[in-house]
Amino acid sequence: MITQPTNNQHQVSEIRKTCPACRQSDQVIPIIYGYPGKALMIKADLGIVKLGGCCYEKGQPQWHCKRDSKAF
Ligand SMILES: [Zn+2]
Repeated sequence: MITQPTNNQHQVSEIRKTCPACRQSDQVIPIIYGYPGKALMIKADLGIVKLGGCCYEKGQPQWHCKRDSKAF
């Protein structure tokens, strides 16, 4: 999924990354950085996205595999 943060609204498209551990993409979700609004908190609770914390630094992982609990 490619996240395009615009004004705290994150658009999620359907292109998923392949997990380097299980080589699957079905359990891969985007890691979203920044202060999460209510909608994003709900998406995180539903397992649609993973919250990466308030500050994003270059090189931090963008994806999370729920199957392996792996960020990459
Ligand atoms: Zn995996």
